[in-house]
Amino acid sequence: MPDGDTIGSCLALYRFLVDEGHEAYIVLDDVIPFDVAGFIHEPIYSVADYDVLKVEANLVFCIDFSDLERLGEKRIPLMANLQTINLDHHKTNTYYATINVVDTHASATGEIIFDLIQLSGLPLKKEYAEPIYVAISTDTGSFKYSNTTGRTHSVISKLYETGIEVADINRTLYQNTPFHRLRLHAEAMNHLELYHHNSCALIYVSLEMLDLCHALPQDSDGLVEAIRDIRGMELVVFLKEIEPQIIKVSMRSKKTIDVSAIALGFNGGGHKHAAGFTLNMSLAEALNKVRILVGNLQ
Ligand code: AMP
Ligand code: MN
Repeated sequence: MPDGDTIGSCLALYRFLVDEGHEAYIVLDDVIPFDVAGFIHEPIYSVADYDVLKVEANLVFCIDFSDLERLGEKRIPLMANLQTINLDHHKTNTYYATINVVDTHASATGEIIFDLIQLSGLPLKKEYAEPIYVAISTDTGSFKYSNTTGRTHSVISKLYETGIEVADINRTLYQNTPFHRLRLHAEAMNHLELYHHNSCALIYVSLEMLDLCHALPQDSDGLVEAIRDIRGMELVVFLKEIEPQIIKVSMRSKKTIDVSAIALGFNGGGHKHAAGFTLNMSLAEALNKVRILVGNLQ
């Protein structure tokens, strides 16, 4: 699912390109998290919608994803014979595009979009600054994670100069939890498994739990981070049943464990402290696989 960085970066770049007289389309083939949806005022096309438009595009920006596998088969209609520019900050990036701008020191892809706009010499407008703030704030856990640098804060200070309403943005992003989301989190917590003297946890959300709590798939957002934040917790592995044979695995670590290295072993990717991969098997089989993985960690 696209996150605040993906969507914030798309919005800022889109608004900048349109202001500069370009015809641009945002193509995003997934559910948009509701807390970020409030910042979108422009059309978002699915790959199927976009195909119908029969646009003669000559350039595709690939925003905030590390490898083409993330697009699945959809990449074929979208990117065939086109020039591509990869704008990303994942250290597992595979440099898949014609031009690759991969800055692993950037806290968020939003920081790279900021750099691009600054490089153009054109003014930074509030309309670009707001989604860039959303991108950086969400990818840094509100400036708490180790990807936050002095430079991140200096970028943010430039965003403030455009007059963005930070308290309003933060209310929309972080003080907006629907009640059924808590119900789902409570249900999942009841099935929490702990390993290695409570320093590793395994948690999952099944389709059955969603049904039980009248919750949506995106209501599992925030759960893995809440478990990570428990005192003494070093690693959390979260399994989400997307469909009966499609299990999305999300990992979070706090200090030394590099979860991107684990994810790469399963054809996934990510960052040192946040990474993921997909398993094409039943939830029960995936749970067993991950139990062995977690149990074998030192
Ligand atoms: P998530 O757990 O979905 O919030 O993702 C955490 C980080 O890992 C994000 O930066 C994702 O882009 C990355 N990630 C998650 N799943 C995959 C995957 N299957 N392949 C590559 N990167 C992934
Ligand atoms: Mn990102």
